[in-house]
Amino acid sequence: MVPPGKTIGVLGGGQLGRMFAHAAERLGYRVHIYEPAAGSPAGEVAALETNAPYEDVAQLRAFAEGCAVVTYEFENIPTEPLRQIEGVVTLHSPWRVLEICQNRTREKNWLRQHGFPHVAFLEVAADGDLAAAIQSIGMPCVVKTADFGYDGKGQMKVGDAGAIAAAVAAFKNQRAVVEKFITFACEVSVIVARAASGDMRTFPVAENIHTHHILDFSIVPARVPATVAEAAERLGKAIAEKLGVVGLLAIELFVGADGEILVNELAPRPHNSGHATMDACVTSQFEQHVRAVCGLPLGSPAMTSAAVMVNILGDAWTWQDGRMTAEPDWAAVLGDARARLHLYGKREPRVGRKMGHFTVVASTVDEAFRVARELKAKLHRSR
Ligand code: ADP
Ligand code: MG
Repeated sequence: MVPPGKTIGVLGGGQLGRMFAHAAERLGYRVHIYEPAAGSPAGEVAALETNAPYEDVAQLRAFAEGCAVVTYEFENIPTEPLRQIEGVVTLHSPWRVLEICQNRTREKNWLRQHGFPHVAFLEVAADGDLAAAIQSIGMPCVVKTADFGYDGKGQMKVGDAGAIAAAVAAFKNQRAVVEKFITFACEVSVIVARAASGDMRTFPVAENIHTHHILDFSIVPARVPATVAEAAERLGKAIAEKLGVVGLLAIELFVGADGEILVNELAPRPHNSGHATMDACVTSQFEQHVRAVCGLPLGSPAMTSAAVMVNILGDAWTWQDGRMTAEPDWAAVLGDARARLHLYGKREPRVGRKMGHFTVVASTVDEAFRVARELKAKLHRSR
């Protein structure tokens, strides 16, 4: 066990690291953030920070030597330097888990190899024949870069043959996957916590509504039949166990009209769709990640109320001719006792950039969703 008082290292300095640091420090840990860029959301609240490239093995080693355990909040960390510090400190989850989840081709091949339900796909090499892969999967389909995709970046829907040439041009010289386009009834996610002992807990399944490929609302618990939620939890646990996760694993799923579930993506870290746990569960996802990586007993993921989380993007700021003319109406959210506001301290609001979120708690999800939409409209000054 890594007892409170010790230092937990976190690779990555975004908002997930910031909220992780808050949870860890509440339990008496010191947090050391390792992040290339200065002034990061997590670096600003952690006890210690190193700003150096992930490839700087000497810096990484010095960081590792000062930590009792290391984890990560970001997927796109090169695994080669992590392999080189393997004997220095325990990394949860192991770099092999990160390596699988950070690349769509490896992730999808891993799911296929282990018989987990996933979206039909074909992989295309950097110099491969994308047009042939698109024809072979059939249209509509979605082309995604194998590496570094997030929030819908690096993906393109190909609706018909007329769109193939544009996709071929856009993905020139890139490793990619071509996926069947899924007409889902809804999207859900399940977050599993796994301890080194093998003990596992799942948070209530969240229903996720994306707008322009970015998470907009997370509704918890998801409005799906109990059989679907239970299947998602079982699948999540089976994947976490097979991968050898220690800490959190978030699994994004497509739910078909018939209740069939397909894995879309895996993330071995806290997840945007788990933010409601901070205000609506006995243990938050961040505290659970602390507990799991430190070998503390896992906490109860039970819900204390229904909840809806709303992401606050840079779009909530008002701009005119390149000048910001109005801040979001914070008072609207702060003035409502059912809402809790969380901001990440990012100085520059940009369209599509995650600046914060708020969570509405209520006795039913329908009530929480109604209030969440109302408050979002007010926050955006009804635009
Ligand atoms: P990322 O979250 O890394 O940007 P995802 O693969 O999760 O990438 O895609 C983002 C969103 O785009 C998904 O949550 C879903 O709404 C939509 N999407 C992605 N792949 C498909 C697909 N094959 N069929 C239908 N919708 C998709
Ligand atoms: Mg996703």
